[in-house]
Amino acid sequence: MSTDDTTQITLPPMKVITQNEHNIRVEDISVNAVKVLRRLNAAGFEAYLVGGCVRDLLLNQHPKDFDIATDATPEQIKAQFKNCRIIGRRFRLAHVVFGREIIEVATFRGPHIQDKNTSDKSKKDGEGQLVRDNVFGTLEQDAARRDFTINAMYYNVVDGTIRDFAGGIDSIEEKTISLIGDPETRYREDPVRMIRAVRFAAKLDMTIDEVSDEAIHKFAYLLENIPPARLFEEVLKLLFSGQGLTTYQLLLEYGLFDKLFPQTGPLLKTDSRERKFIDQVITNTDNRINNGQRVTPAFLYAAMLWYPIEEHSQKLVIESGLSPADAFNMAMSDVLHRQLQRIMIPKRFSITMREIWSFQHRLSRRYGRRAYQMLAHPRFRAAYDFLLLRGEIEGGELYELAQWWTDFQEVDSDTRKRMIDDLRAQSGPRNSRRRKKPKRKPN
Ligand code: ATP
Ligand code: MG
Repeated sequence: MSTDDTTQITLPPMKVITQNEHNIRVEDISVNAVKVLRRLNAAGFEAYLVGGCVRDLLLNQHPKDFDIATDATPEQIKAQFKNCRIIGRRFRLAHVVFGREIIEVATFRGPHIQDKNTSDKSKKDGEGQLVRDNVFGTLEQDAARRDFTINAMYYNVVDGTIRDFAGGIDSIEEKTISLIGDPETRYREDPVRMIRAVRFAAKLDMTIDEVSDEAIHKFAYLLENIPPARLFEEVLKLLFSGQGLTTYQLLLEYGLFDKLFPQTGPLLKTDSRERKFIDQVITNTDNRINNGQRVTPAFLYAAMLWYPIEEHSQKLVIESGLSPADAFNMAMSDVLHRQLQRIMIPKRFSITMREIWSFQHRLSRRYGRRAYQMLAHPRFRAAYDFLLLRGEIEGGELYELAQWWTDFQEVDSDTRKRMIDDLRAQSGPRNSRRRKKPKRKPN
């Protein structure tokens, strides 16, 4: 067995916190989760609420979802519920479905076994990262496998007690994010834990403890080994939590942002326009989420990559002698392609991103019917919002262009017509009337 295996983790003595010693009430728990717990208990299995929901309830926050850990295997869980399906490859678990609510039920996980014979169940790659992980275990082993002390508490619905295996209750009181076990090993096993640490620090207004903190600076580079598809999901959780700004500032501080957005990171010097732009986009995203408005990853990703595209496009014009239009098209493809090596942005979003980018140039060509056609385009709203933000940051002509579009949307049709006529008048004879085709000479 390898020395960096989590079986080496010695947990402090388990503490049982009785119902009178904490603030969780059964009424605060999803009725569906309680149903699942009771059913599993009635069938003779151990079953607990675990992880984020216990932590959030202790902090008087609304849990996003309710997860359950049990000693029943996925098949045994499935046998208990009609509305249950088994999912997952990296770790098989059961989903019990109640309309729109899904209760995730996972069998206790055991230590990873580094034995040749069992390598089909648990496997690490060259950097110590777990790539497969399907070993069942005991409750205590399950606790040792969890990432942070605040995430390793188990609530028992039968008597309202909490089993605290890693000092989670103390961490909650001290408002500290602490890894369970040795930080280097735990980050190597799963580098996503580094961005989870940052996410929880921002979300729960807590501080990452010194050892867990130092190790992030040192091992940030390991994020480069995470499959781009997994990072797409994780980045959504980071930036679409409603505390995106704090999270992003922490990501920058820890050197994690550069690993996620290698083309954007180097441009974000304090007080640079790029920094102001991204700060503003993330602030607006937070405000929209906290007001219950719709947000799309396409807009945020479009913003992240906008200045890298502009920079690359200008370079292409100078170095390759391409026309500005060709250079811009090529820059969109190059920059997007490089970003996709790190984060797999689904096609449905990258198509919208391209539309938003292309619109930025089209929006200045407003003559004739074009202005009306653009206004009717399904992507106009996003493109206009994007332009407005750029205008606010950069000022000058861009600001005026954005103002023009603001007015154009608000005024009546006669005024619209006049606005376009004014543009023609300002721009001189070239655009003032449609050039007539030269008449063909009769043969
Ligand atoms: P959130 O409120 O964002 O859902 P959460 O703690 O519930 O936070 P989940 O991703 O839902 O986060 O994971 C549920 C639980 O599974 C965690 O609380 C933790 O115990 C465990 N866990 C999740 N990801 C990891 C990981 N990468 N390494 C170890 N344990 C993990
Ligand atoms: Mg959760």
